[in-house]
Amino acid sequence: MIKYLQLQMQGDAYLKCVNPKCGLEYPIMSTNVQCENGHVLDVIYKNKPSPDLKETFYERRDSKGNIFNESGVWRFRDLLNFCQIDTEDTDECSKYLVSLDGAEGRQSKPYQMSKAAEFIGINKEGLWLQPEGYNPSGSFKDNGMVTAVTHAKMVGAKKIVCASTGNTSASAGMFAANEGIKCDVYIPAGQIAPGKLSQAYQFGAQIIQVEGNFDDALKQSLDDAKNYDGYTVNSVNPFRIEGQKTIPFRALEYLNWESPDWIVYPGGALGNTSSCGKALMELYQWGWIKKIPRIAVINSDGASTLSDLYNGEFEDEELRWNKGNPNTELISRYYDHLDKEKLRPKTKATAIQIGRPANIIKGL
Ligand SMILES: [Zn+2]
Repeated sequence: MIKYLQLQMQGDAYLKCVNPKCGLEYPIMSTNVQCENGHVLDVIYKNKPSPDLKETFYERRDSKGNIFNESGVWRFRDLLNFCQIDTEDTDECSKYLVSLDGAEGRQSKPYQMSKAAEFIGINKEGLWLQPEGYNPSGSFKDNGMVTAVTHAKMVGAKKIVCASTGNTSASAGMFAANEGIKCDVYIPAGQIAPGKLSQAYQFGAQIIQVEGNFDDALKQSLDDAKNYDGYTVNSVNPFRIEGQKTIPFRALEYLNWESPDWIVYPGGALGNTSSCGKALMELYQWGWIKKIPRIAVINSDGASTLSDLYNGEFEDEELRWNKGNPNTELISRYYDHLDKEKLRPKTKATAIQIGRPANIIKGL
């Protein structure tokens, strides 16, 4: 109890609405995923971490048996210290930070491939690739799930919930099982091949079928989380974004914190786009990097909401952040158009088969 009070009093980290005109703030122990006006939230840190930590991160690569140094996420724990703990105190780390034996993000770092560089017509030295499949549950989702489940544990959640058809539920089910927390996965009825959910089943998650499509399943899961004391771990959860920041952290560390010109991401719910943007803006504000790289988001032809809106291919208007005043009505009209024309996102890469990206505003 004393510890808890101390944490509250330090108050370095808090939640803030991303809309600058609204800007509502909430304590870090809040489980809201939106402000009361329906905008998404960000985790904000008052203190500015010193660039001297670059040396600390480098030294932690020799983990000396400490799983939090081994973890590709928690090695950077000082830059996502929403638990507000003493990051050098192993007992505190063990008490608060969720980890699968340090395996999340452990093997992810940039590498070069001459054939890939040749294929796109640039020289080999100019292209780096970073694999995010080398994770305990097999996808990049573990980067952000480990931080979301850490927050769930911090607030004493008994059950985590998500809507998912694959990677998210596998990752959520795995970390929940490891922490002895229940996990409910919402899926659209009759639209999911059982094989896609097999990982979540194996980890003992409860599967709930919802009539309708994926968006209906997400809505139901958010409502149930609110009404029945569940903790939402879909990418609208701001703590997911914190863990996903370590994807660019690992890349930049490998490049001696010298920014590349471009960082290229596939675009789905736009959680990765948002986390990369947040990571870069923070590093720039803290004086860790001198230049903010440009971010290229690649949509597939069959699920191209961001591409259509950003490039003005819908109603000839280019959707922009517009100093915190993006044209949300344009987005709504685009979604109505999808419904009216019965346009369903369709691509072989099902992880990015998303028509309504939950983080579109944050991504902008
Ligand atoms: Zn707000």
